Amino acid sequence: MLNVAHLRQDFPILFRKVNGRPLVYLDNAATSQKPRQVIQALVDYYEGYNSNVHRGVHTLSMEATDRYEEAREKVAGFLHAPSSECIVWVRNTTEGINLVAHVWGLANLREGDEVVVTEMEHHSNLVPWQEVTKATGATLKLIPVKDDGLLDLSRLDTIITPRTRLVSVIHMSNVLGTINPVKELGKAAHKVGALFMVDAAQSVPHAAVDVQDMDCDFLAFSGHKMLGPTGIGVLYVKPEVVLGLEPFLWGGDMVREVWYDRATWNDIPWRFEAGTPNIADAIALGVAVDYLQALGMKDVRAHEVQLTEYALERLKPLEAVTVFGPRDMNVRGGVVAFDVPGIHPHDLGTALDQEGIAIRTGHHCAMPLTRDRLGLAATARASFYLYNTEEEIDLFVDSLKRAIGYFNGVGRRSPRS
Ligand code: PMP
Repeated sequence: MLNVAHLRQDFPILFRKVNGRPLVYLDNAATSQKPRQVIQALVDYYEGYNSNVHRGVHTLSMEATDRYEEAREKVAGFLHAPSSECIVWVRNTTEGINLVAHVWGLANLREGDEVVVTEMEHHSNLVPWQEVTKATGATLKLIPVKDDGLLDLSRLDTIITPRTRLVSVIHMSNVLGTINPVKELGKAAHKVGALFMVDAAQSVPHAAVDVQDMDCDFLAFSGHKMLGPTGIGVLYVKPEVVLGLEPFLWGGDMVREVWYDRATWNDIPWRFEAGTPNIADAIALGVAVDYLQALGMKDVRAHEVQLTEYALERLKPLEAVTVFGPRDMNVRGGVVAFDVPGIHPHDLGTALDQEGIAIRTGHHCAMPLTRDRLGLAATARASFYLYNTEEEIDLFVDSLKRAIGYFNGVGRRSPRS
């Protein structure tokens, strides 16, 4: 079990006040807060060994290179990847998926080919495939979402077919909280000879992910949602697949030899990392991985299951509130999106902020899901992480009740009263 009272001491921001109240940070699906250890890693780098990597023979450059490559190994271990050569540094999940769309999608897709995603994708795993299928003449297909928030797999064999070249799915929905059956979807993709990609932006931070067990070909996630800094993310590529890929960007560090008229490519993974990389943030992400591993991802997940169950229980009696996503915590993570008919989510978000409670409101970068499946322009969303507590959920629910009471009162009043 996590010692939450103890670990909260590591997060300086949790002790600030917002609008005169202690901050209750429930916007973790957007980005997580950072522990002192991660912040210190950035300070240590800039104060102690700031230098460019891979190119220098001097001490600072060697120290920076060692720490930077160690961070890659830590990430490989965290994902149970076969080697650190499978770990490509990118800026974020979005860039990881775009990298695959460019280097694999544009090079391999043809007219008649099909790419399969789900109806619950974040824009970052939808728009790249819209654009790449448009550019190549391939077709984009959707696995539907049922009203209970789970994928409808009943007709999967009509969606994933011998024409499918790639199946790319969100592991955990940032709106519904649904945890998708990625192993099953990966098997279905591989059965027809397609590659399998996972958007793990909401899963890697919250539960143990084993890329070999999942048997995915590509998997992308962002450091900033898992206690790490912004500007650093990871694309995992399976060894058999990575060797066949051409570079994404061209320039320094990604080359082995250069002549005036041509160049040859560096080994993987550096082949995909042109130019000076985000050294400090990669090292700090390695420290975030250390932090999560010291806690244990099983305990992180168990804590979030407990918090989410508690939140769902506390929201259940509120008749005005519609909560989305599955109820079964075996297939759900710590994201609770909800709607209060008649009250705009932005109004709810603003009212809660007045009491120091940070939730997110909007379409959460899943506009088609929100508009076409939930029939809404926006939802409100509370999302939890390892430092949240049941007391914070109480504050959130009580504040939400007050906001609903207030707005319903305003709504009922005549304009002149
Ligand atoms: N996929 C999912 C499921 C997400 O929740 C997010 C972030 N909201 C992303 C992709 C994009 O992450 P980033 O903005 O860090 O690229």
